[in-house]
Amino acid sequence: MKVDLRSDTVTKPTSEMKEFMFNAPVGDDVFEEDPTINELEKYAADLFGMEAALYCSSGTQTNQIAINVHCKPGDELICSKEAHIYKYEGGGIAKNSGTSVKLLDGDRGRITAQNVELSINDPENVHYPLTSLVCLEDTMNRGGGAIYDIKEIQSIRSLCDKHGLPLHLDGARVFNALVETGIDYKSYAQNFDSISICLSKGLGAPVGSVLIGSRSFIKKARRVRKVLGGGMRQAGIIAAGGLYALKNNIERLKDDHENARKLAQTLSEQPWIKDIMDVDTNIVVAQVEPSTSVDSIVNKLAEKDVHIMPFGKDTIRLVTHLDNSPEQINYAQEAIKNI
Ligand SMILES: *Cc1c(COP(=O)(O)O)cnc(C)c1O
Repeated sequence: MKVDLRSDTVTKPTSEMKEFMFNAPVGDDVFEEDPTINELEKYAADLFGMEAALYCSSGTQTNQIAINVHCKPGDELICSKEAHIYKYEGGGIAKNSGTSVKLLDGDRGRITAQNVELSINDPENVHYPLTSLVCLEDTMNRGGGAIYDIKEIQSIRSLCDKHGLPLHLDGARVFNALVETGIDYKSYAQNFDSISICLSKGLGAPVGSVLIGSRSFIKKARRVRKVLGGGMRQAGIIAAGGLYALKNNIERLKDDHENARKLAQTLSEQPWIKDIMDVDTNIVVAQVEPSTSVDSIVNKLAEKDVHIMPFGKDTIRLVTHLDNSPEQINYAQEAIKNI
């Protein structure tokens, strides 16, 4: 039995999703005439009580577009030193927007209002770059799927208001956070000026992310998407997978969280495991004992067709998703026990 726990990006569309995609009406999306994309954008914006949305090719693209709209060259944005926008987007902040970055420490990558406040530069002092954006990531990938405390988000929002700064959310896995906390989507979204959501992670669509914000923000974002070469034509055929995912696959993310807790429990019983981050959602990050090599664990599991990721020199990552059946999780638990 093959069990792929490397990432929640590995999911494949189900036959129901493919059927929905096959039947989706399409048009030229650069002309804003693709009915499926228009429906997806409206659906996503409405879900969060925001005005408008934009379908993009990837979460890197939605994040990079948001940064480009919010920031000018020479400005500075504030984010966690573990943030995806900084670590995993190929230096795009510098390359695409010429923007500087202030990196903050945080608890499992979650930054605090207090640290953000200390990092906002005095706009009257010409020595400093102009702070022009704060970015959060919820859930926090490098933090083992950690969920932000809503009170901290609200404090950061108040701070942004005080300093006239926009707040962007890299919400690649925001639904994992919201199904777990039960917080209302719209009241959560009120805290942000722009939100990026991924359709191709735990939601199980094959392609795409959606950027959500005000009408004027999305108008500017649409221009940047075109400049970055992301203006697609009859893309409703792929966007339909995302629409199907938003309508059908959100609540079931709880199953992934349950599966992740099971895997973490089994890992915690192994002598070669040193420490495991609390499992808030669908990501398990575990540190192996110094006497054990990450590669040997990864390889031994791979021999049993259980695939996980090295996540730093002494750390492994397992991510659960909708293609994991209960049998697969049992099988992976047995494989871990038999290393
Ligand atoms: C996956 C991910 C993204 C976007 O990645 P793409 O592969 O470009 O879609 C953005 N932020 C986080 C936290 C992610 O995990």
